[in-house]
Amino acid sequence: MNQLGLYCSRCSARLPFRYQDMKCTCGGTLLVDYDLEHLSRTFKKEALQNRYPSMWRYKELLPVSNPDCIITLGEGWTPLLRMQKWEQKLPIRQLWIKREEQNPTGSFKSRGFSVAVSLLKESGATKAAVPSNGNAAGALAAYASRAGLTSTVFIPLDCPPLIVEECPLYGAETYLVDGLIHDAAAIIEAGKQEQGWVNVGTLKEPGRVEGKKTMGLELAEQLGWTFPDVIIYPTGGGSGIIGMWKAYHELKALGWIDGPMPRFVCVQEAGCQPIVDGLSPPAVREQTGTGEANPTGMRVPHPPDLPLILSIVKQSGGTALALSKEQIAEATRSLGAQGISSSPEGSATWAGMLALCDSGWLRPTDSVVLFNTSHAMKYAKLGTTPSLPTIKSYADYKSLSR
Ligand SMILES: *Cc1c(COP(=O)(O)O)cnc(C)c1O
Repeated sequence: MNQLGLYCSRCSARLPFRYQDMKCTCGGTLLVDYDLEHLSRTFKKEALQNRYPSMWRYKELLPVSNPDCIITLGEGWTPLLRMQKWEQKLPIRQLWIKREEQNPTGSFKSRGFSVAVSLLKESGATKAAVPSNGNAAGALAAYASRAGLTSTVFIPLDCPPLIVEECPLYGAETYLVDGLIHDAAAIIEAGKQEQGWVNVGTLKEPGRVEGKKTMGLELAEQLGWTFPDVIIYPTGGGSGIIGMWKAYHELKALGWIDGPMPRFVCVQEAGCQPIVDGLSPPAVREQTGTGEANPTGMRVPHPPDLPLILSIVKQSGGTALALSKEQIAEATRSLGAQGISSSPEGSATWAGMLALCDSGWLRPTDSVVLFNTSHAMKYAKLGTTPSLPTIKSYADYKSLSR
């Protein structure tokens, strides 16, 4: 069993481990603290060689103490695909795509909820609730059902129908909210006492960041215990950036890697870009709203700990950029033409990579990893068959084909 505690990412205060309420009195976010000094002596990377290809291969670096409480659907250890042809065309050294859409619930939210729901199980909780643009709701629903817990999910009305439909399918009590994700969060906060809900929203509990941390651990292992120079990540609430930054520091403390921190690049959709605005405040101060941004995992106008995300991006020498709808749509087509199904979030990383090549921010020596966090199907329009040639026979085919 690991010696667990919590530490504050802002003031460094150390506290005993707990399952809820991750805000320090200073306002910072509490994160899980491991005895890395002890682990560096007892846990060797060679131990991983014979382990099952799942994110639970890193169980020593995950906060679940009772192995019987691990709730898994087969998450993690997703392929890291090299894009050799593009390396020839672009002014970068190496290009990889981490195929997170292959997780059990069709997005990388599986990772966070596998750990979060395991912790709920371990704590004896029975009811969980989450505000979500869809993928978090589907993941909570699936893992809660697997664990035998009740889940209630609150999703903005305009979220993609297919993602919404998954929630009742996985057995969640599902509500559409006439508002945005923070309005959905307010409903849970208002009702959690009365309803007995544990709020598993971003940074409300320790598990989701720890689950997403495994993306960083895995990336390092898949690259032979090195980090790429640049990670391009579609950022909403930011738990993935926080998790991968934590992975870097933990692997360093274990002595498994050395070298500089990867430069973290946050991509967002123009119109809802709090991280971009936080790094370089716009000349004319506008309220950070959603503008015309689509309802995706990146549409989080008020990330719960924006200062932490900004400090990670700055420390790492990274940057943030906002992509237009058109750039994102073009990237979806471009990835599709290479056999890769990418959600708008994953596409945004491709569009961001191209923009950073154009601007010269990416260097010819850089190795770059893009995170395709979900697949295109989740965002498909229901009830519209694309207009394509329709035939009944081979003769029809012959008459229509060129
Ligand atoms: C939630 C989500 C994101 C944003 O991830 P964070 O780690 O919360 O910033 C990106 N892409 C998809 C598909 C998502 O569901």
